[in-house]
Amino acid sequence: MSGPTILFDIDGTLVRFHGLGRRAMSLAMEEVWGLRGALEGISFAGATDSGVALRVGAGRDRAPMWSRYVDHLRKAAAARDDLAPLEGVVPLLDALRERGARLGLLTGNVREGARIKLGAIGILDRFDLSISGFAEDGVERTEIAAAARQRCGGMPLTVVGDTVADVRGARHIGARALAVAWGFEEADALAAAGPDRLVSGLGLELLPWLLG
Ligand SMILES: [Mg+2]
Repeated sequence: MSGPTILFDIDGTLVRFHGLGRRAMSLAMEEVWGLRGALEGISFAGATDSGVALRVGAGRDRAPMWSRYVDHLRKAAAARDDLAPLEGVVPLLDALRERGARLGLLTGNVREGARIKLGAIGILDRFDLSISGFAEDGVERTEIAAAARQRCGGMPLTVVGDTVADVRGARHIGARALAVAWGFEEADALAAAGPDRLVSGLGLELLPWLLG
């Protein structure tokens, strides 16, 4: 018997990268597009890489920028030894998998960026990328969610994320929404978005709900 399918956001949900992604993208936009400080004042919370790139570089060729971005991100991640999943994440992922859950990603990261980030913290192998959604699937998180939904088929889904955008993405595809307010995003705004459950962290205590 197969367990439930659960799709996770990455940044602010599974891990914090202390601005590594933003810096890598900023460097790439400067090198390839000649734009300095292009990301100043742009919030990445709940944003998609594709949406940010469209906003900053509308009309520009994005493929070479993404190529430089992943190079910078890979180097930056390799240079640090303090990157780790947020507390409680690994035991929860492993317990879910042991009980037959299928774990995927619903993320605003470009695919290779997601692979680099999760690889850097040693949890890439927990996820099935063939049932996941990435920035290549759309500019809005709802579009990415729709692509992931198509890959997952019609089974019940749960989406786990840390922003209002994650909750909206879940709603868009008829999935349950678990919102996690680690303290980086306003818990009030998350509550107002109407998730099925709002928690202040991830851990084994969520197993019954996630498997139910
Ligand atoms: Mg997030």
